[in-house]
Amino acid sequence: MSPKYDLLLKGGNVIDPAQRLNGRMDIAFIDGKVASISEQIPSETANNVVAVNDKLIMPGLIDLHGHFAHKITPFRADPDTTCLPIGVTTAVDTGSTGWINFPGFRAYVMERVETRLYAFLHLSSLGVTTVLTLGIPDTEDFRLAREEEAVQCIEENRDLILGIKVRLSPHGTTAANAVPSMEMARRVAENTNTKIMVHVMDSPLPMKQVFDYLRPGDVVTHAFHGTEHNITTDGNRLRDEAWQAREKGVIFDTGCFMRHFSLPLCRAAIEQGFDPDTISTDIVGPRPGTTCYNLLEVMSIFLELGMKVEEIVRATTINPSKVIGDKGLGSLAVGSVGDVAVLDIVPGNFSYEDKLGDSIRANNRFEHVVTVKDGAIWNPTVG
Ligand SMILES: [Zn+2]
Repeated sequence: MSPKYDLLLKGGNVIDPAQRLNGRMDIAFIDGKVASISEQIPSETANNVVAVNDKLIMPGLIDLHGHFAHKITPFRADPDTTCLPIGVTTAVDTGSTGWINFPGFRAYVMERVETRLYAFLHLSSLGVTTVLTLGIPDTEDFRLAREEEAVQCIEENRDLILGIKVRLSPHGTTAANAVPSMEMARRVAENTNTKIMVHVMDSPLPMKQVFDYLRPGDVVTHAFHGTEHNITTDGNRLRDEAWQAREKGVIFDTGCFMRHFSLPLCRAAIEQGFDPDTISTDIVGPRPGTTCYNLLEVMSIFLELGMKVEEIVRATTINPSKVIGDKGLGSLAVGSVGDVAVLDIVPGNFSYEDKLGDSIRANNRFEHVVTVKDGAIWNPTVG
């Protein structure tokens, strides 16, 4: 009998919250998809058998908030060296580009890299280019917000654009332009039947007012920041409107970059049962004076803050997959895209800081073992 499967991972501990699986399973792939998942799949049925005894097997990780318009917009990360080596097989660029520079991002990055990329289009025509190059906030000059062109760009790139990004912060807009920005983003999302992702760190608007613009499936990012207008009343107790927004279906994303999250506030939220829906990095490329944590480091932070492993996996697989839409990502169900992150949790002494003056120590962290992309073991391209 000739082998039936292209690849078989044997002996791992599968965690797939989408299917409520958590236990020892074998998983086999054919033609880039998950072909079988069960307690025992014979080795002789596969061309390539990889023993992953006692490692954690989960769907390929999804980073819902990063910046990957590499060399299109300054300080954007190279997706293939940032993501695939740690098990992130899908990533979302959130507003690096607007309708003017998105086509270049698509042609020269998204379509050329191995990492599966999606994007939120920035409401500003040039994305974050003006603030990063000239110091002019994204929509400080509201002539940069062009509704018709944004709608047209989304319509022309519906396969890759998930919605519209707005930044309510001094780098993103002015207090006077905050409401017009949210109103325009709402109209763009309605007209294209896509989502809003809104940056709320240092927002001039109270959370309650921001939530009023959001519909089920829209995303609040940097949702666990610790400065003014955060999701708590006092740095500790969750606001009623945060619970109501979650009830309505608003997605709470971490975007854990620099000052954009507060370790004590994250811990308080988790203790009250308010885990993040999606765990993401807000990762950028090398830039003097900045450090950012990659997705495994951010996952390790949330492990230390008290989230269960299964919930961390949910927040980096099926939950971000729901924001992306029906693409077969974030699950190991038969027929799904054959992406897997093989990880381990290893002991040691680790520390993390949030740039707001708080730090934590951790005795365990996630470490990468193997990445499977489209049903094959991923190896970095040599040379
Ligand atoms: Zn960001």
